[in-house]
Amino acid sequence: METRILADFYGLSYIEITNLNGYDNQNFSVKSDKGKFILKTYKAKPELQELIEGENQTLLNLNRDNENIFPNPIPNLSSNFLNYENGIISRLLSFVDGEFLGNVEHTPDLFFSFGKFLAKMDNQLLNFRNSAIKARQSNWDLQHLELNKKYISCISRPEKRKLVSYYFQQFREQVQPELNDLRKSIIHADANEWNVLVKNGKVSGIIDFGDMAYSPLINEVSIAITYGMMGKKNPLEWASYIIQGYHKHLPLLSREIDLLYYLVATRLCISVCNSAFSRQENPENEYISISEKPAWDLLEKWIAINPTLAAESFRNALGFDSIIQQDYQKEKATRDEHLSKALSLSFPQPIKMTGSAFQYMFDAAGKTYLDAYNNIPHVGHCHPKVVEAGQKQMAKLNTNTRYIYDQLNDYTEKLLSKFLGNLNKVFFVNSGSAASDLAIRLATNFTGKNKLMAMEYGYHGNTRMGIEMSHYKYGGKGGKGQAANILKAPIPDTYKGQFRENNGSAGKGYAHLAIDLMKENDAEIAAFIAEPVVGCGGQVPLANGYLKEIYPAIRAQGGICISDEVQVGFGRLGEYFWGFEMQEVIPDMVVLGKPMGNGHPMGAVVTTDAIAEAFANGMEFFSSFGGNPVSCAIGKAVLEVMGEEGLQENARQTGDYLKNLLLNLKEKHPEIGDIRGSGLFFGVELIQNYNRNQPATALAKNIQNGLKDMGILIGIDGPDNNVLKIKPPMCFTRNNADQLVEGLISQLQAK
Ligand code: PMP
Repeated sequence: METRILADFYGLSYIEITNLNGYDNQNFSVKSDKGKFILKTYKAKPELQELIEGENQTLLNLNRDNENIFPNPIPNLSSNFLNYENGIISRLLSFVDGEFLGNVEHTPDLFFSFGKFLAKMDNQLLNFRNSAIKARQSNWDLQHLELNKKYISCISRPEKRKLVSYYFQQFREQVQPELNDLRKSIIHADANEWNVLVKNGKVSGIIDFGDMAYSPLINEVSIAITYGMMGKKNPLEWASYIIQGYHKHLPLLSREIDLLYYLVATRLCISVCNSAFSRQENPENEYISISEKPAWDLLEKWIAINPTLAAESFRNALGFDSIIQQDYQKEKATRDEHLSKALSLSFPQPIKMTGSAFQYMFDAAGKTYLDAYNNIPHVGHCHPKVVEAGQKQMAKLNTNTRYIYDQLNDYTEKLLSKFLGNLNKVFFVNSGSAASDLAIRLATNFTGKNKLMAMEYGYHGNTRMGIEMSHYKYGGKGGKGQAANILKAPIPDTYKGQFRENNGSAGKGYAHLAIDLMKENDAEIAAFIAEPVVGCGGQVPLANGYLKEIYPAIRAQGGICISDEVQVGFGRLGEYFWGFEMQEVIPDMVVLGKPMGNGHPMGAVVTTDAIAEAFANGMEFFSSFGGNPVSCAIGKAVLEVMGEEGLQENARQTGDYLKNLLLNLKEKHPEIGDIRGSGLFFGVELIQNYNRNQPATALAKNIQNGLKDMGILIGIDGPDNNVLKIKPPMCFTRNNADQLVEGLISQLQAK
């Protein structure tokens, strides 16, 4: 058919045709007696015809003052630029020669010329108008990102899907509100390395105007740098060459370049969404996914780049003012003026945080931090599914448990399905502290007793009751000592404590120390509360068999057993969803907090029918915010993400990998006395002089500060502040683990 079109409509002979790749039309390279051409054929559709006509007009306009830079429409024998036959539209274009940008070595000069080339082309198009192109809504046009939303579900891997959803959300938040104020023009809108041609080390031509759009001008640059950065070690640097070349010939505005970070992500999302969709539709067409791998690679790199750093490097390249902030003295002074000094700041040089994404946090100085410390953003900072759940519900209904609403029942059912035994009632509150406080009220009410046994170095909350039962607080700096109704169970620590055989005997030994204490108290203990791994106490897992021994004794004297799962719950320990499972016990009450709402303030007490019923003694229990529809929607999204992304299993696998790395490190560094924990919850205890009773407190602080300078966040805890705490978001990867351990190595070597 193609040969006949060429002969009949153009009078060409000696024709040699090669079929080229194409996205949604057919392209042919033609050699003939009259030279080289490109033949394009399309299935005829009315709106398509207008667009092709628009494309031809654009090309004719561009070719007015240029030669062999842009494809030039060739008139047929009747002086028309389009042919129609049997439902097929065809047209012929001049052949633009040159090497593809994708096939030549990239240099700063070449990239500069690339920017310059696009700017010159766009300058020519600034006053050109075409109503068909203007009306077009293409899903490849960055401003219409939302048209691609339906393709997100075609991305099979959940950890990839979440990246794309994250940037869709960022587009809505950061780009959409600016769109109306950006200058628009007709742009090529697809300056990728297989459309751009090079001669003598400079960009010399561009082909394939099929994606032309009337779109914000900056999108021309966004698309070009997106492809220019693929496969580069320092993507921001390479992007800057293109931007500089462009800016020199068509000056950009700071508000435009400040959006580039998000617009690049937008292009990458469009690309991977369409690849995923097209592969589903058309598994054979390899051209479709030509840039799929490099696009994913860049997207995965992009998520760890601080948007402020990106904006700053583009600004720098063009000589715009810096937006980096390094000095926070003013903010610190305001804070000190308004807040009590009882609130602390981490680090002598505090960090001003401005954003975050999954396991990364971004500061005002443009630095990215790998978050190996914050266990509250459990499924990842700003997880799009959690954010969306909150946003949507907030826009619809937020009220309290005095009304019926579906979100409460939906979430409660989902949460309680995670519990065994007769743990089947839940009270919702807004923090771990409120939950532990309520747990004690429930316990004293149920048992009629008023003494409590709590763990040495344990922490359960900031309420009056919380402080009273938390040895970490009442026994620490500023603490008022142990109250008369509190019994302190010796911490079952097999590293430094009295019993060290972790085969069950130590657990029994420690339990009996506590049981002996209990015996002196005439069956007055209402509750025993402990964390399965004592977090603030220095990440100390309870000795094996401890709870199995002590729980029956507590119950036998009429008390109830509470597990504080605020830090270790929700799959963090990898092997177990709840920490108490590790000890093969089922408590009577479970205290939940931190990870429950991924940063949204949520807490809960889960308990038995009997305990919950006894509490209904006529006095209403009401929490203004506990269990509200927004919190429930968020809590449900957290559990769903856990399941979809297999985060408990990731904690197990990545945790095992990280633990091995840490154990290897311990072999080489005698300052590491102990590595303990599992899943994504570890303690690294630092000691001096090979002596586990000589804490290396200063070293711990130095390492924490040194890692911070390297862009890695960890915590410190334990009674001697010598235990490095590692408890990152559950999406932590092996690469993240490598980065953390490499950081630790360099800090230990620098000590
Ligand atoms: N229990 C434990 C084990 C905790 O770690 C914490 C917080 N560090 C709490 C309770 C109190 O939780 P919140 O800070 O949400 O009040």
